Amino acid sequence: MAIAELQAQPGMLVLARESRGLTQAEVATAMTKASPGDTTPVSQGYVSRAEAGRLVVTDKRLELYAAALGYPPEFLCLDPQVNGIGVGLVHHRKKASLSASALRRVHAHLALARLQLDGLASAAALPEVPRRFFRIPLDDLTTPKDAARRVRRVWSMAPGPVPDMVAVLENAGALVITMDLDSDLLDAVSQWDEDGQPLLLVNTRAPGDRRRFSIAHELGHLVMHAEPGTGSTQEKQADAFAAEFLMPASDIRRAFSGGVDLAMLTQLKRVWGVSMSALLRRAQTLNAISEWQYRTLMIEMSTLGYRTAEPVEVLPEQPRRLPALVHSLLTDRQLPLEDAAACAHLLPEDFQRLYVEGAGSSSFPAFRG
Ligand SMILES: [Zn+2]
Repeated sequence: MAIAELQAQPGMLVLARESRGLTQAEVATAMTKASPGDTTPVSQGYVSRAEAGRLVVTDKRLELYAAALGYPPEFLCLDPQVNGIGVGLVHHRKKASLSASALRRVHAHLALARLQLDGLASAAALPEVPRRFFRIPLDDLTTPKDAARRVRRVWSMAPGPVPDMVAVLENAGALVITMDLDSDLLDAVSQWDEDGQPLLLVNTRAPGDRRRFSIAHELGHLVMHAEPGTGSTQEKQADAFAAEFLMPASDIRRAFSGGVDLAMLTQLKRVWGVSMSALLRRAQTLNAISEWQYRTLMIEMSTLGYRTAEPVEVLPEQPRRLPALVHSLLTDRQLPLEDAAACAHLLPEDFQRLYVEGAGSSSFPAFRG
């Protein structure tokens, strides 16, 4: 489509701006800078009206907008409804202090990742991955622990530690992207998808063991929580699910039977791929140690600085589906980088950074026009 026929969609203008972590005033400044020949500066009011759909953005202004936000003009003109943007319940593993604007940015990342992956997948035409996600509503007879056990059973997982959480989700049909989510206050975010391909973004700022727990926590949300609920109850349920999923009571109880100390927790961390603090909590939940022992060990860990940085590194797990998609496009189909980028609605340099260099593990830096 020629640029003259294109018209920006207000919803996409908001999404694109939020994904860059910019304010309306910053977009206006970037637009003004992108047009040195034009003497009339773009005002914040203009951006505000464009986002509210109270004026039409086409032609030269559309080009300026695209330059300021660092996306192809066509991207700003996608119809959010046709492309299913913002559909599907979103869950996160985050701290309460995460600001509303940081949360909106993560939601924008999620919506964009979905669009990018859909675009890449339709161009790559890789064999379908089985879609094995299902829902387990909680009730008086079904606890998060039961749900975790059932998922492990239905997905035919061997007893004991989970070797690779990312692989478990990918093999069930989920799409997993590891990326810098621009904040230390949020570990992961997930979105259900009616087509059976939930999407997870996992923050690269967290160490490998915490990422695994976060993925299991998100899996708990995806399986158990079809409706948004009151935050803290669902969070506790997702944590209980994750604990049972990663450390099944019937398997790990034996490991705690000889008593629990710090040396043993570091040893168990290597085997189970979960943090020492998660193991300690598990030992307490399963009544393998007393409340007093639990508190003593917590204080010991805190004194040693383990609350911020634990010993024993658990290597971060890497997604495979997304790198396979990109490889299929660029290597098997020999698509030029520009064309592959266009499939993902990205400028070539962004595509390169996000999907080629990072190969599914990348940062999405703020764009300053
Ligand atoms: Zn959560």
